[in-house]
Amino acid sequence: RAKFEKPQATRIMAVTNQKGGVGKTTTTVNIAAALAKHGMNVLVIDSDPQGNASTALGIEHHSDVASIYDILLGGMSIAEVTEQSKEGPSLRVVPATIELAGAEIELVNVDDRERRLKVALDEYLSTTSDRGEERVDYVLIDCPPSLGLLTINAMVAATEVFIPIQCEYYALEGLSQLLNNINLVKNSMNEVLEISTILLTMFDRRTNLSNEVALDVREHFPDATLNTKIPRSVRISEAPSFQQTVITYDPASPGAIAYEQASLEIAKRGAK
Ligand code: ADP
Ligand code: MG
Repeated sequence: RAKFEKPQATRIMAVTNQKGGVGKTTTTVNIAAALAKHGMNVLVIDSDPQGNASTALGIEHHSDVASIYDILLGGMSIAEVTEQSKEGPSLRVVPATIELAGAEIELVNVDDRERRLKVALDEYLSTTSDRGEERVDYVLIDCPPSLGLLTINAMVAATEVFIPIQCEYYALEGLSQLLNNINLVKNSMNEVLEISTILLTMFDRRTNLSNEVALDVREHFPDATLNTKIPRSVRISEAPSFQQTVITYDPASPGAIAYEQASLEIAKRGAK
């Protein structure tokens, strides 16, 4: 088994791309599960009202569940809301419920609306030993498919931006808007923010299009793009219906192996 070293400081990654269906949630839960499998202490924050990351990690998210909404708008702490995932004790989750759908609008009129998640996360990360818990090594924040206040909160709280890109036509379209937003946040609220990681998803090596998109993305982001590409795989798309990641659902499948390989690359490269 490949050796994963713990990062020097907690790495906080906003997994974002304003396009829907590009593999943000799938990437968040599978990278998190792979890192946890290799000894990392991981927190996933589900910040999409759909709650798909919560589902994939085996966490209930009906409307009575304490969630990210209660952190952003209800004054609750992250420690009060986190739950252990089905993947094991070293992967914990802040669930999202449908209540979050109203948060973009409700946040508009509150103080410090862009920093609510950062304040809560800083408090949580600095008090792990008070609670008798180990330091968190990785935080992955699954963002909704928009560039609104939920995504801004994730980018303000994060130290790194992680962009999954689907290998399809138009893959790079709309990305300049995302890059503008990242720069806005970096220049006004979070100077350490960097695009550290780009992962090509749903790659089909038999098609010219997939290969062209992969080359194109690598040309635009030579440093951030991981060598590993995630193949299109039925096992990956089936796993959530068993409330599992593909890492536990079918660890020997090509999709699981690719996600493990990608997580090893992330761990080896460290924070930039
Ligand atoms: P996003 O969070 O960006 O909206 P998802 O992670 O939910 O995207 O993925 C969109 C859909 O594509 C889901 O149904 C998911 O199961 C499927 N999917 C994601 N990655 C793969 C893959 N590598 N192979 C096959 N299906 C995938
Ligand atoms: Mg999603």
